[in-house]
Amino acid sequence: MPGMDLLAKQVIFAEGCRGHLTKGLFETFDLREGKDPQTYAIGIKELWDIDPAKSKPGTVWHSVGWPLSTDTYGGSFLYHLNGNQVAVGYVVGLDYSNPHLSPFEEFQRFKTHPKVRDVFEGGRRVSYGARALNEGGFQSVPKLTFPGGCLVGCTAGFLNVPKIKGTHTSMKSGMLAADAVFEIVTADEAQNAVEPVSYAEKLEQSWLWKELYKVRNIRPSFNKGMWAGMAYSALDTYILRGNAPWTFKHHADHTNLKPADKAPKIDYPKPDNVVSFDRNSSVYLSGTNHEENQPVHLRLKDATVPIAHNLALYDAPEQRYCPAGVYEIVRDENGDNPALQINAQNCVHCKTCDIKDPSQNIQWVTPEGGGGPNYPNM
Ligand SMILES: Cc1cc2nc3c(=O)[nH]c(=O)nc-3n(C[C@H](O)[C@H](O)[C@H](O)COP(=O)(O)OP(=O)(O)OC[C@H]3O[C@@H](n4cnc5c(N)ncnc54)[C@H](O)[C@@H]3O)c2cc1C
Ligand code: SF4
Repeated sequence: MPGMDLLAKQVIFAEGCRGHLTKGLFETFDLREGKDPQTYAIGIKELWDIDPAKSKPGTVWHSVGWPLSTDTYGGSFLYHLNGNQVAVGYVVGLDYSNPHLSPFEEFQRFKTHPKVRDVFEGGRRVSYGARALNEGGFQSVPKLTFPGGCLVGCTAGFLNVPKIKGTHTSMKSGMLAADAVFEIVTADEAQNAVEPVSYAEKLEQSWLWKELYKVRNIRPSFNKGMWAGMAYSALDTYILRGNAPWTFKHHADHTNLKPADKAPKIDYPKPDNVVSFDRNSSVYLSGTNHEENQPVHLRLKDATVPIAHNLALYDAPEQRYCPAGVYEIVRDENGDNPALQINAQNCVHCKTCDIKDPSQNIQWVTPEGGGGPNYPNM
């Protein structure tokens, strides 16, 4: 089914983190000029039905570090919900440098920690999903308006990174954008205005802008490792209160990988199928479906790059950073002639490949036919 033509006077783009059409707008209207690169993390999440005797609705756990090494940004969240359910997830900063790292396996390993394992033993995993989230914050927010539209929510990058919360900022930006667009579409035609510039002004005067400004240095302070980041974050939050006279810079995530032979291999434990699982059974729980005979939504700019560059230099990191097992290196019966196989029907639309591919050769485009994961309770 072909996509639809948008003929509206104004279009508000709300595609979520790493929007595909938004990427095109960045280029067409130069919206990122003078801004820091956007940086990202991948968040992998599961929903569990747990033993009612272990349920403590309202209990929230957050952790940093283990099982990640201290030079990689990441941590977990675990929320006890009503109805004997627990939402658990793990976030890994996509600026990690070791190409052998697998965010999926880090998450599975996290659940084997004795304290965490106990929550899930005797329970049943009911849902699985993964999604990229923005980590650039204030200094990575692009120019927000252009002739005929504007950007809201996570496609613009309004996530409060230390809190991993972006629902409230998405709603606020949507409300302010609606006000600005209403002014334009109801204005006297003689004014001939096409760019809802007042949206950016309204935003800069709102609590959203102040909130993002105050936490702008927390995430980049972890570029020097977990302990330095924790120490700086305490200083910034409790003493400086977000008012430091400096703003740390960001770098693009895809530039950070070390060559595979310069990074330690990671030996992940096999899934125990009690609290830890493999990718295939996980994707099954995401309800992912793509209609047959649709144009492929994972595109390579250059089909030679995966083997000649990614496999040769980085041991094909797409095999590990994709949480859905979409990318596989297959070989002939002699173990020769490697080729990249793309199992696009498994894609859970997390956008990590579009972000982390070291040569930016993979392009995630919005699939036709409305396919993708089905997350009713996530
Ligand atoms: C693991 C994880 C945990 C999180 N936990 C929290 C939390 O506890 N609290 C909190 O406040 N926030 C949390 N967040 C962040 C929160 O999910 C986002 O900030 C919020 O969903 C952003 O809202 P949005 O409307 O901008 O984008 P989204 O919620 O991503 O919605 C975008 C929608 O647009 C659709 N879409 C995208 N492109 C197109 C297109 N071209 N055409 C048509 N449709 C399109 C997508 O399918 C999607 O349905 C979490 C994020 C992650 C990844
Ligand atoms: S193919 Fe890309 S977008 Fe799809 S699940 Fe894998 S990493 Fe995520």
